[in-house]
Amino acid sequence: MRPKQEPLKFAITSKGDATSNTLMQKMKTYLVDFGLEYDEDEPDLVISVGGDGTLLYAFHRYCQRLDKTAFVGVHTGHLGFYADWVPEEIEKLVIAIAKTPYQIVEYPLLEVIVRYISGGQEARYLALNECTVKSLTGTLVMDVEIKGDLFETFRGDGLCISTPTGSTAYNKALGGAILHPSLEAIQLAEMASINNRVFRTIGSPLVLPAHHTCILKPVNQVDFQISIDHLSLLHKDVKLIQCRVADEKIRFARFRPFPFWKRVRDSFIAD
Ligand code: NAD
Repeated sequence: MRPKQEPLKFAITSKGDATSNTLMQKMKTYLVDFGLEYDEDEPDLVISVGGDGTLLYAFHRYCQRLDKTAFVGVHTGHLGFYADWVPEEIEKLVIAIAKTPYQIVEYPLLEVIVRYISGGQEARYLALNECTVKSLTGTLVMDVEIKGDLFETFRGDGLCISTPTGSTAYNKALGGAILHPSLEAIQLAEMASINNRVFRTIGSPLVLPAHHTCILKPVNQVDFQISIDHLSLLHKDVKLIQCRVADEKIRFARFRPFPFWKRVRDSFIAD
């Protein structure tokens, strides 16, 4: 819980369309009228107005201060997975933000480290949804190591390593399981693996616990693309990509109960 007496600093990120911008302006005015401070650099609370993509953007913008910032999402399009407040509820949300100490729920993230053949600096990323590795030219061939042992040599379109909250995104489209975010785990799902008498992969999504690191090692020298959530990165000279549950977590501000399985049902079955 946030201590009631501390002044709250907030920021709002908008999808950028007219509806989201108007809503952003309205919320900003209401919250400042309530005596809260608008602070884009060091917010305690980030309100994302738009869709899941807007919250992913906000997460990456503030991912250097995850221990100090909580997130809440308002959706201006269809029901978002991370953006569950609707525009008609913003007065209720503003009052809840201004008046009550709020509850924080923490969800696991994925840490991705890219190391290069030439040595030098490694690159470290945090993903809220997933990391994907896809070949740009031809079949992707990657050795998959789990907890230090070679598990398989993957041949196919690519691999997706997702967080529990990201399990309902790209991972779900690949036939991966939906994981409850209280599970400290990551999931490895295949994209169109080649399976025949010569080449073989497990063919099922794998769920790894927090203390198991998964390392992908390129076998052939094809160009491949690494994505972290909505961001696409083109890496050359990659020796390995290391994935594990991150030490950091994302913190969501909760102003009302919204059980995970209800969110899954409302997003995918009926609302
Ligand atoms: P986008 O606008 O194309 O969004 C894709 C869809 O993914 C949207 O409908 C969004 O609401 C939904 N989404 C995002 N996070 C989700 C989550 N955690 N659970 C359920 N649905 C979720 O692209 P964007 O806004 O830039 O978002 C990037 C995300 O799109 C990636 O992180 C990836 O998960 C997802 N994506 C999905 C597929 C697929 O399902 N085949 C393909 C590419 C990317």
